[in-house]
Amino acid sequence: MPRVVSFHYVLRDPTGRVIDTSAGGEPVVYLEGAGQIIEGLDAQLRAAGAGEKPRVQVAAGQAYGERDPAQVQRVKRALLPIEGELRVGETFQAGEDRYAPVVKVLALEGDDVLLDANHPLAGVDLTFDVEIVAVRAPTAEELRHGHAHGKEGGCET
Ligand code: ZN
Repeated sequence: MPRVVSFHYVLRDPTGRVIDTSAGGEPVVYLEGAGQIIEGLDAQLRAAGAGEKPRVQVAAGQAYGERDPAQVQRVKRALLPIEGELRVGETFQAGEDRYAPVVKVLALEGDDVLLDANHPLAGVDLTFDVEIVAVRAPTAEELRHGHAHGKEGGCET
């Protein structure tokens, strides 16, 4: 039987820089094995109980994936729907659609722009300092839905 786990975390990259944290907000709640959190973290928290503070290291391949060189493309500056000046490191959405990928400007080379559509955390090994807040059995409804419900008992989006 999968568990429903609530936890707080501080996420760091290999240099120790804090990338993200749940501190100061609600804990993350997930149903084990349901794909609600990254696979490598889910797998390594299976044995952790309430009150425990495991440090979990997740290799890039089990987190946001390795960087894919095919996601780096050279395009003509004039074809980009961006007004004004482009800067290296700038990110923007590559299309009108709100599901269009977010791309990052890697380099400006003459009339060309090198764009990277990899996830910003692709290729990054992650370290989570976790604090397990609570562990409980899932409700029948959560099992049917395939995800954990928040403390109000409803589906969260
Ligand atoms: Zn639901």
